[in-house]
Amino acid sequence: MNVPSNKYEKKDIIKVENRYLEPDETNKLSLIAPHATINIIKDYKLAEKRKIQLPDYITGIFKCPNLRCVTIGENIKSVIEVIDKEKIILKCKYCGRILSIDELIF
Ligand SMILES: [Zn+2]
Repeated sequence: MNVPSNKYEKKDIIKVENRYLEPDETNKLSLIAPHATINIIKDYKLAEKRKIQLPDYITGIFKCPNLRCVTIGENIKSVIEVIDKEKIILKCKYCGRILSIDELIF
């Protein structure tokens, strides 16, 4: 949903209903929306405002795009290290490849 915002030109709203999001889950959202704030609404009231934060490591969500990486083919959970949380620079822990967010395979 696009709604007007003062801080940025527009903002998108992702609405997740009837479900409590663990901090771990909201942190995953940080990859697609690094400036997002999570508002937890409980009983129609704002219960919690959570600033999204990139974790230091992202485990098992993405696949490394390097075809020669050991995690491809083998049944190894990928471990992607977040080197720079501002610019979102990521690195595969196994092959050391620097990854940009567009390269990641879900
Ligand atoms: Zn890799």
